[in-house]
Amino acid sequence: MRMFLVMLAVVLAACGHVGGTSTTTIVLTASPLPRISVTSDSFARLRKEMVMTQIELRGVSDLDILAAMNAVSRHEFVLPEYLDQAYEDHPLPIGYGQTISQPYIVALMTEKLQVKRGDKVLEIGTGSGYQAAVLAYLGLEVYSVEIIPELAHVADERLKRLGYKVAVKEGDGYFGWEEYSPYDAIIVTAAPDHVPQPLVKQLKDGGRLVIPVGPRGAYQTLWQFTRQGDDLKAVNLGGVAFVPFVREK
Ligand code: SAH
Repeated sequence: MRMFLVMLAVVLAACGHVGGTSTTTIVLTASPLPRISVTSDSFARLRKEMVMTQIELRGVSDLDILAAMNAVSRHEFVLPEYLDQAYEDHPLPIGYGQTISQPYIVALMTEKLQVKRGDKVLEIGTGSGYQAAVLAYLGLEVYSVEIIPELAHVADERLKRLGYKVAVKEGDGYFGWEEYSPYDAIIVTAAPDHVPQPLVKQLKDGGRLVIPVGPRGAYQTLWQFTRQGDDLKAVNLGGVAFVPFVREK
């Protein structure tokens, strides 16, 4: 059963595929006075359910990560039209053709970073800022690079407003963020067709790089690489579908 759920999650994947049906009953309206208001209580309940059924059941067991997924308000990171789907088992559009990853994939990638409080982490692909918020909640020093200026700006403001300490930079994450390197771990949330060498160089010896790699428009493989001197030890984490890693023209 667990294996089946993991496979299902991996095929539903992280960023690129938007599917599934809405099962919640929250009704939202565009008028200034909502007919039915979404209480923080109902979001807390949905979040708890998400952690249990989508994440714990599929094998993520690190208690700090489960607590972080339970604490970070995912609904703050989605577009208003998707509020009622914020805790569902699939990615959601965040504008500019990009998506916030499926909750399980966020938890899985976080676990595979194998980090501890105080570690320094680089994220490539800030997007909505949700993954960065989960990392910050875990007490990590978080740096995040986003190539789409509008997304970088909105995520930066949102993270500040919600009180998450994350340094956001606009730019092509292919080159990492050298100034604060080396990192204990690097997470890439868009899929390049090869591992960017600057990211490997910015990893500490023994550091982890969690990254989907594969062709554009097809399934990719999620990898956990561990730097060992000039070599990388690779662990295949399964098939995923992320949005493409784009390059600055
Ligand atoms: N971690 C994000 C997921 C966003 S989807 C979240 O939690 O919401 C992936 C993001 O990677 C997109 O916002 C996309 O614009 C960004 N991206 C793609 N190529 C990039 C690159 N070369 N450098 C930095 N960001 C990139």
